[in-house]
This record gives sequence, structure tokens and C-alpha cells, in this order.
Amino acid sequence: AKEKLEQLKYTQTMTLDGVQINLLANIEMPEDASEAMERGALGIGLFRSEFLFMNRDGKLPNEEEQYLAYAQTIEAMHGLPVNIRTIDIGADKNLGNDENNVTSDISPLGLRGIRWSLSEPEIFLTQLRAILRASAHGKTQIMVPMLAQVHEIDLTFNLIAQAKKQLEDRAIAFDPNIKIGAMIELPAAALTMPAFLSRFDFLSIGTNDLIQYTLGIDRTDNAVANLYDPLHPAIIQLIARIISEANAANISISVCGEMAGDAKATKLLLAMGLKDFSMHANQILVVKREILKSNTVKLKKFLPKILQTYHPDTIKELVESL
Ligand code: PEP
Ligand code: MG
Repeated sequence: AKEKLEQLKYTQTMTLDGVQINLLANIEMPEDASEAMERGALGIGLFRSEFLFMNRDGKLPNEEEQYLAYAQTIEAMHGLPVNIRTIDIGADKNLGNDENNVTSDISPLGLRGIRWSLSEPEIFLTQLRAILRASAHGKTQIMVPMLAQVHEIDLTFNLIAQAKKQLEDRAIAFDPNIKIGAMIELPAAALTMPAFLSRFDFLSIGTNDLIQYTLGIDRTDNAVANLYDPLHPAIIQLIARIISEANAANISISVCGEMAGDAKATKLLLAMGLKDFSMHANQILVVKREILKSNTVKLKKFLPKILQTYHPDTIKELVESL
């Protein structure tokens, strides 16, 4: 069976009714790009850049070091797109023994993700310049985590413009049309999609945090791990709504949380109209196998029933029967 799965690497990812699906990889370090290529990923849907900043005793990577890491990743992908998510520090990901211990106890509801970046504009500008410089090496996109408020979107775009200006002043090359995307991972973002659709080139659903914040379950607290349910009716309603609003607005939408790599959720996400899935490279082929057996026209017919069901066991049964 394993051998057969390996053969799927060269098979186009298309449903039985001819819908082309894009399978992308999540990575943490530049070295992970080679595995993404080996499994046939069509790009990097999520580069968790905070891993470049972690476990360094608080000595943050400077612009040059970051630029080299991003450029190495982009080169390794040979022209396929790379979504570099700006630093998403806090909660389960802290900087280690940073000098002032500023990030080691950020709660999930605290100064994490874009909130931290906006509170450290020099660190953020340094990262943005490094990403922009790397964009001269191949298709690069910037993705922003944990946005919930319009003023955060404004501040982020201002800083990106400022970083571009700084590079122009230094006569350094970058892609002036670099695409900017947002993660939809807070319920507030999911419920105010028009504010995001009107500003961003693409969106990606972070199901890990969307579940955490919608169900009020700390991702790192084992005592409530049993309540962490991707098929909770509130979660599937939100995800269905995000995908349908993005598709209606013709803005590219992906899922990059763990749910995208869970073969048991593949048909449900296809039924919702998802076409871009980003996951750990080692999940790509099992998800592809599921897609090759799926017919989106048939799947879509079951969606209304699933969305009108409020009992988790019934939802589970319906999803398993897809
Ligand atoms: C998510 O929240 O689903 C996500 C992809 O980001 P992270 O797991 O890095 O928070
Ligand atoms: Mg997240």
C-alpha cells in the first residue's frame, strides 16, 4: 500500500468531476523545503517563520540572516510560490531564554502574532525587508497571522509600505507587486470577512487557532484536549462560511491548519468548496488519495444537511459517510 501511495506523487490532484486541487506544504525551516518538493507540493502554503527566531537565547536573526533563510527556501522551491508568515510568537511558541524574558509567558489571549510584531516595529520592519529582498529570488507572498481588527490591517500595510521604501532608498531589488495575505484564525476575523476580502490578495484559515478561540480551549492544556473538536458545529459553520465568502469574492482561500492534513476531513472541506490545502509534507499523499476518490458535485449536496446538524455524533456520522 505504501508503494502505491508513493506512486501518487506524479498523479495530478484532481477530483472525479475534474476539479483541480492544490496541495501545498507547511514548513518550519528552510531545510524542510526539499521534503515538500519530494512529496510533490505545489508550493509552501505556510512557512512558520517564528522557528527562525526560537531557541536562540534571545539573539534574534538579523536582516541578512533572515534574507538568506527565506531566499534559500524560495530557491529550493524552483519558482513555486512560498507564503512566508510573519513571526507568530507567543502562546505555545516563545523565543526561549530571551534576554528580557518578554515572550516566554505570552498567553494565547495576549500580545501574540501580529500584535507582538506591531508592538516591535523595528523587528517587524527588519523581517519585512528580509522577506521583500528574498522576493527577488522567486514567487514570494507575505502572510500575516492573528489579525482581528481593521486598525491592525492598516498598521501592517503601513509598515510593509515603509519597508519597501527603505529598500528603494537603498536601491535593493524586491518584487514590488508581492501579494499580501491574512490568516483567518480568530472568530472576529471569520465574522468580518468583507474587511479582509477588500484588503488582501489571499486568505488562509488557521483551523488550529480558530478552534482554540471559538471553543475557548487552550491548545496546550491537556485537561481540555478532549474538547478540542474540529467537527464542532460552530467550527464547521465558520469554516464553511469563510470559504464560501472568499470563493464568492474570487479571493484565493486555503486551509493551513492541521485539519487540511487530516484525510478524514478532506471530503468535508471539498464539499465546502475548498481548493487549496496546506499541510505537513508527509500528509500530502494520503490527502491526495482521498481527493482522487471524491466528486465535489456529489459532496456539495450533503453540505446543507451537515450545516443544519447540531449534534457532534451525527455530524461525525455524516462526514464519515461522505
Ligand atoms: C493555525 O492556527 O491553524 C495555524 C496554521 O497556525 P499555527 O498552528 O502556527 O498557530
Ligand atoms: Mg495559528
